[in-house]
Amino acid sequence: MEIIRKGQRQDQGPVLELKEYCNEDGSTLPVLQFPVLEETGIVRHFFTTRLGGVSEGEFRSMNLSFTRGDDPAKVHRNYQRVAAALGTDEAHLVLTYQVHHTNVRRVTMADAGKGTIRERDWNDLDGLVTNERGLALGTFFADCVPLMFVDPRHQAIGACHSGWRGTVKRIGRVTLRKMREEFDTDPADVICAIGPSICQDCYEVSADVAEEFIRAFPGREDSILIDEHNGHYLLDLWEACRITLLEEGVPEGNILMTDICTCENPELLFSHRACKGAPHGNIGGFLMLR
Ligand SMILES: [Zn+2]
Repeated sequence: MEIIRKGQRQDQGPVLELKEYCNEDGSTLPVLQFPVLEETGIVRHFFTTRLGGVSEGEFRSMNLSFTRGDDPAKVHRNYQRVAAALGTDEAHLVLTYQVHHTNVRRVTMADAGKGTIRERDWNDLDGLVTNERGLALGTFFADCVPLMFVDPRHQAIGACHSGWRGTVKRIGRVTLRKMREEFDTDPADVICAIGPSICQDCYEVSADVAEEFIRAFPGREDSILIDEHNGHYLLDLWEACRITLLEEGVPEGNILMTDICTCENPELLFSHRACKGAPHGNIGGFLMLR
């Protein structure tokens, strides 16, 4: 399958690689991965695609939602495939419950399996941090921005969901500060990934959304908004997230920026905008300390 990549990054080669894991039945599980994160040697991570699962119909095929009417047995099999590719099992995944707020929680092995094999005891959690090996953090997207954080010095990780509401409230900063509080993480050490999500060309927003960004990022509006002069703006969530990470002290060279837009790759990825209101699944972002 041909992947559409954003042109301005072609000089650097692909930032995200398509990698294929082998499923238990011999089929393949295609995922997107930042090679730089894997090269740290301390984590396993990837973003799932629509492909490589067992769900059917509108959920075809790598659906990770139990709440949209898919057969739960198929969703479990999808999670088992994801977990196997990470080198673990379904009981060692822990999932967010995303509501576009900025709550970030430290999770431990006591939370393993929450969201997959047992109930979550949270209902408003857009970010997770941990320093436990073998506990895989799971977050979900269909145009919203996945952020991942790896602190090699303290062997700690974080993952969060940054939609426009989370981005304007700087959930990237909240996650970094939670890692500092819990693990003494210094942003200067952290490698951050801004994962596959909607690009500025595809993300038209209303004036009231643009106004929130102008208020939240004073002096930076020209970097993140293009006025279309028709009451709408094009919003660059990737750059707004990058600015937030830089403000907190993450070195520019430590920020990995997606070169793949969800909306421009609807055959490969789930995109809310590309589906135009039709039912769709989510991409999962998974990150685990080895
Ligand atoms: Zn796009």
